[in-house]
Order: sequence, then structure tokens, then C-alpha cells
Amino acid sequence: MRKLTRKIYVGDVAIGGDSPISIQSMTTYQTSDIDKVVDQINALENLGCDISRSAINTVEDAKAISQIKKRTNIPFVADIQFDYKLALLAVENGCDALRINPGNIGSKDKVIEVVNKCKEKNIPIRIGVNSGSVHKSMIEKYHGVNVDSLVYSAIEEVKTLEELDFFDIIISVKSSDVNTMIDSYRKLSSLVDYPLHLGVTEAGPLYTALVKSSIGLGSLLKDGIGDTIRVSITGDPLEEIKAGKAILKALGLRRDGIDLISCPTCSRTTVDLPKIAQEVERKIAGINKNLKVAIMGCPVNGPGEAKEADYGIACAKGYGFLFKKGKTIRKVDEDKIVDELIGTIMKDCSDEN
Ligand code: SF4
Repeated sequence: MRKLTRKIYVGDVAIGGDSPISIQSMTTYQTSDIDKVVDQINALENLGCDISRSAINTVEDAKAISQIKKRTNIPFVADIQFDYKLALLAVENGCDALRINPGNIGSKDKVIEVVNKCKEKNIPIRIGVNSGSVHKSMIEKYHGVNVDSLVYSAIEEVKTLEELDFFDIIISVKSSDVNTMIDSYRKLSSLVDYPLHLGVTEAGPLYTALVKSSIGLGSLLKDGIGDTIRVSITGDPLEEIKAGKAILKALGLRRDGIDLISCPTCSRTTVDLPKIAQEVERKIAGINKNLKVAIMGCPVNGPGEAKEADYGIACAKGYGFLFKKGKTIRKVDEDKIVDELIGTIMKDCSDEN
């Protein structure tokens, strides 16, 4: 059962309550490099990203937000580390949320100024405590970077905002250690009803990141904890969206996007199935339909093993059987397997529209 958290809006995307779990990613170019950032955000959106975030390091970055917003559709989160003036400028330039920790801003006056600006523009703040940014006082109090010091650092930040009558808050307590991350979010979830942004921080390159994030995010989401996610990957942020969609899809938490299943291959396989599966995966990445597609290595067990699928292909030497809802619809040559499968799906999708 999903934990019912407070519903907060980042632009027009609801986070928390009964809203769908949203997927976020972060741009990798200097935010002032407007054309590149716009292209990256639009590519992220095309793959299914709900919210984008960009680091704001300079005045030029903050001023770029208004231009970026004009050429993109999804909400824009400004990620600020210490400089409250950049936070104010980012809000003035139309960001849809701030990712900032009040404890990093400095004096109380500065925090009040930022909070008042967010209230005026009706935008939320995400508090994000990472294993690398736990408060010194909490490290001393709880004897190191651990679940308690992470969670209570975040709670301290929350209290600072609550004392200023600000409650549009989203929280993350990311750790690069998966067990610490899971336990921290579990503890935090038992203490607050604000929506939680889940992530394993510094999760590593693709393969490692996928494993860590699937375990970390998957365990929490399965327990009903978490309202928005980011799969952190060292590499192309587009991979983060594919991974996020795959995690949510595997848990039945996201309806759009194709669920691809493929067999592990065995001595019955007579085609280059990994190549076919990868090509299909690449070509269906942008199809936002709730479908299951199966790529199977033989015509003996293939259709049977994938009979739950909406579409599939069971490959044999030199050809494949294209099937739909478990029934064969035609036989296609091996070199046309991918095109015929994708073509059939696309045609059916366009006939429905
Ligand atoms: Fe082997 Fe066929 Fe099963 Fe694939 S579907 S693992 S080729 S038996």
C-alpha cells in the first residue's frame, strides 16, 4: 500500500498523494549553454522524463532559465548549492522548484528572503541531504554518516522551513550505500508526510547504477515509499529515464511505455537474439503505450513462454514468427524481423488514435 503523502506541485506535475510516480533527470551542460540544455531537456521529455533539473552555478545560468522555459515543456528545477542570490534569481527567471538546503544558505535573513520568494511565486523547495552533505553537528551527534545523521539533517532543514510557515517541501536523503539509502528513506517516511524524492546517489556507471538503483528504489517503491525518482547514472541522462521507466514498469507503477521481455537464449537459439532485442529496445523507447513485447529465441517454446505479451517474435533459422496476443499472424524473413515487429506495433497504435 502506497504511503499517502502531501501533494505538492512542481509546475503542472503533481508529486505525492495519489499522483503517479514521476521520473526526473538532470542536464549535463552548463545551464547558460541554452541550446544544448534545451535539446537535452526535450530529448529527456521525449523519452518520458517528467521533471528536469539543472545546476545553477552563475548569474548567467540563472538568467538562462527564462529562455530555456520558453523552449521546453516539462517543469524545470533549479539546483542551488550555497548562493541565495542565485536562488532568488532562479525563481525570478521562472524555475518551477528549487533544490536547496536552508542550512547551506547562511544567515536567517537570507533563508527568509528565499522562502518569501518561493511563497510569492508558489513554488516548492526540495531539501536534499546526501551522504556527502550531512550536517557536521549530526555527524558528531550520531557518530558518523549513517541513517540517523542523514534523516535528522533533513528533518532539521524541514523544521527551518516549517518555522517560516513553508510547507511545499519535497525531501531526499540519498546515500551511495544502498542499505543506508533504503533504511534512511524508511525512517524518514515514518517521521514525515512530505513527498519523497528517491535516489541512490553517485550510483556509478550504467551497469552498477542499474543494479543499485533497482534494489534501492525498487525495495522502497514496493513498500509504498517514494513519490518521484531519479536513477543516477554516470553517463547520458537519457539512460536515467529508460532505467526509471523500466523500474516503475517492472513494479506495475507506470502504465505508459513498453515492457520488453526477451529470453536468455540457449542452444535452441539460431539468430543473434541480443542484437535483435537491443534494436527493438532502442526503437520502442519513445512509444508511450502500455504494451508488453516479447523477443524469443525459438519457435518451440517462444510463443508459449510469451503468450501474455501483446506482440512478439519467435525466431528460427532464417525467419521469425510474428505473433500478437499469443497467436501467430505471419512468418517474416530474419533480416526483416525488427522492422516488421515495430511496423506492426506502430500501425496498430496509429489505427487506435
Ligand atoms: Fe531457449 Fe527457446 Fe526458451 Fe529462448 S525461448 S531460452 S531459445 S527454449
